[in-house]
Amino acid sequence: MIRRSAAAALAAVLALTLLPGAPAPAAQVAAGAPSPGAPGVGDPYWPFDGNGGIDVTHYVVRDRYDFATGVLSGTTTLTLRATQALSRFDLDLLLPVRAVSVNGAAARFDKPDGHELRITPARPVARGAVVDVVVSYAGRPAGLRYAGEDTWLADGREVVTMNQPHMAPWWFAANDHPQDKATFDISVTGPATHQVVSNGLPVSRTVSGSLATTRWVARDPMATYLAFFALGRYAVERTERGGLPSIIAVSRDLGPLDQAAALRGLRRTGEITAWLARRVGPYPFESTGGLATSLDPGFALENQTRPTYPGTSPRSALLLVHELGHQWFGDSVTLRRWRDIWLHEGFATFLEHHWTETHGGPSAQTWLRRTWAARQAARGYWRTSLVDPGAGRIFSAPVYERGAMTLQALRHRIGSRAFFRVLRTWARERRLGHGTTGQFRRLAERVAGEQLDGFFRAWLVAPRPPAQTRRNGLR
Ligand SMILES: [Zn+2]
Repeated sequence: MIRRSAAAALAAVLALTLLPGAPAPAAQVAAGAPSPGAPGVGDPYWPFDGNGGIDVTHYVVRDRYDFATGVLSGTTTLTLRATQALSRFDLDLLLPVRAVSVNGAAARFDKPDGHELRITPARPVARGAVVDVVVSYAGRPAGLRYAGEDTWLADGREVVTMNQPHMAPWWFAANDHPQDKATFDISVTGPATHQVVSNGLPVSRTVSGSLATTRWVARDPMATYLAFFALGRYAVERTERGGLPSIIAVSRDLGPLDQAAALRGLRRTGEITAWLARRVGPYPFESTGGLATSLDPGFALENQTRPTYPGTSPRSALLLVHELGHQWFGDSVTLRRWRDIWLHEGFATFLEHHWTETHGGPSAQTWLRRTWAARQAARGYWRTSLVDPGAGRIFSAPVYERGAMTLQALRHRIGSRAFFRVLRTWARERRLGHGTTGQFRRLAERVAGEQLDGFFRAWLVAPRPPAQTRRNGLR
């Protein structure tokens, strides 16, 4: 993600304290006896994100959006495996729920707060069992709030579901934490005058009277916050480069000059994706692309296979480098806990500076020296630890800039060849999976053949600027 103004997101911290009670620790029960799944996966930044006892492998989302009323209605069918014997389990959904079934049998449900959907199946679910859960819902997503966020982005002509770290519960029933990735099959029904753009590749479009239903399938596992749909009037272009399909879309509700500029910018998607692949290894997914919206999200976001940009922004190649760089670092290799967000943002920001130095700009090392010097006196800046920045600071400047400085300093210390081998190995070994800061440090040590704990402590954790030494990559 890149925010136009990095000032937001503080409300999220406050909201944490307003939620009703902390999730109970997993109850001690006799082995094998069914028990309730926890209401969160255990991420301290957002304790109610995701849920315990379930592992979702596939989502089928069938949504309909009515611009006149602002009502979103639909069903989500989740295929999930019980990771414990379950008497009950939760999903995350803010919309009012009409019905829930588990393996075809009606299930009892309630919503103890706005976010948790608590489901009690007619019979307990055995540990290891795979079940289909169908949730039907209808309501107005606009104005629904969770964790201080009101993420619904729509006007009378266009809707785009884009946000981080939370977006899913506004439009489908989810196990809403990046720890649980799944494949997606997304259909959206809207006016036949509109197009639908989503993740992966389009499969079909069916027109019935004044409505059209468009289906997209994403075959590669995806974190729930990266799933999206856009419904609007779009100019859509499909091209192919080296066998990789690229689908770009520009809102026709932008002014003609903005449309033309956005189209010119997005047409560089294939070229930039190919450049990134030469630097950090094969592109991880089945398609690439991008979407320029006429709405004003205030940020661009790396939705999997199809980043979304404010309409006036994709003319910046650096922004495309950032969001497409996330396809490797963030989307394919994803954090397990939000505290590790620098593994997304630091990497995408480093790739911007690497693009700059290979396209006529100053070297990334020059950028590192200048930035390090310019930040010397900024005490608060260095107090943001990149291994635990805090929920309200996951999009703060140090997460991006100090994170990118860490990578360039590592590159200077261990050499460019070893450094890019670290990035490529990280992307390859953890493709479509997860990674932690500790795992990244151990990989860097393995490739470099030396201890780097002091280096990473100085760059990621210490509440002061790293000393200007060779070991810190500054000489
Ligand atoms: Zn980003």
